[in-house]
Amino acid sequence: MKSAAVITLLVIVSGGFFAGPEASAEGLEALHVVDWHVHTAGLGYGGSGAFLNEEMRENFRFGFFLRWVGVTERELEVEGDQLVIRRLSENIARSRLVDQAVVLAMDGIVDRATGRLDEKRTQIYIPNDFVAREVAKYPNLLFGASINPNRPDAVARLEQAAAQGAVLVKWLPSIMEIDPADESFVPFYRKMAALGIPLLTHTGMEKSFAHARDELADPMKLLLPLEHGVTVIAAHMAATGRSEGQDNFERLLSILPAYPNFYADISSLTQINRLGYLVRALNIPWTIDHMIYGTDWPLQHFPVVSPWYHVRHIGLVNAWRISGIRNVWDRDVALKRALGVPDEVFTRTVGILVNRVPKTPN
Ligand SMILES: [Zn+2]
Repeated sequence: MKSAAVITLLVIVSGGFFAGPEASAEGLEALHVVDWHVHTAGLGYGGSGAFLNEEMRENFRFGFFLRWVGVTERELEVEGDQLVIRRLSENIARSRLVDQAVVLAMDGIVDRATGRLDEKRTQIYIPNDFVAREVAKYPNLLFGASINPNRPDAVARLEQAAAQGAVLVKWLPSIMEIDPADESFVPFYRKMAALGIPLLTHTGMEKSFAHARDELADPMKLLLPLEHGVTVIAAHMAATGRSEGQDNFERLLSILPAYPNFYADISSLTQINRLGYLVRALNIPWTIDHMIYGTDWPLQHFPVVSPWYHVRHIGLVNAWRISGIRNVWDRDVALKRALGVPDEVFTRTVGILVNRVPKTPN
């Protein structure tokens, strides 16, 4: 009965003015929710073609990453990297609120002189073919391709990814060494626009890797694809970091309203290193029209994310309730709803996916 007493106490202490916004998820359960930002992992088992370079394997983040994905290296050795995607599908299926997830491939650094993948310097590589083939087995997973536009056959690879069902192209410019403002990518951008394939690209500082070239994650660099009609989704809303002496988040907000084809995903905005940004963005009403829902799974576990970091905004009662939700996706939705994210953000689709998700309640 001790815990009941604690709950009662919390309810009394937090009272009305400490409780955050009402966060019942009833309405959302009947709607179709897509998580636009989900990672996978691979070590090359089962013929996946995925790899991590020496530097990443030796990095402390590697152990955490596998644990959060919910697999051991031994399991991958026996069952292949395919296991990660199967478990992912099973976990999404257990979510009450999230119906589908876009699983992201990860291209590497491409040497512009030779046109080849630089395997030594590429920290993580997850090939398109592997992700396309595996997600096709599960109706609740969608294919997020990754193509470094420095590849000489980038446009052909884009066409192939589209034929394999890609719903977007994902870049991590600071890790893949891509400068989105490079004029030589214009043919690639034109093809993306023609195919209706959005560009989901990391903005803001990157902390999940051994090292990163953060100057390439400046949101201002996205003006070029935007001008060429690409639907661009700035991952993490450029939260954290500065470019040219200015806050990346401020830089993003300064250009966001000017482009109807410009969006920002709210993945990872509940992480300890990005506290406060989501609430700030929600206080500017028009930003809501540009928000896309995503989690950045598996970076969803304590100590990276916890509802207790947000007590100031959601209140003790919500923090207590949300910390008790077992499914990672349901917990993420509940936390973001409590922070004030409206339903229209969770159900928003853009690009080629608009015509592929059910319009009627499922
Ligand atoms: Zn991510």
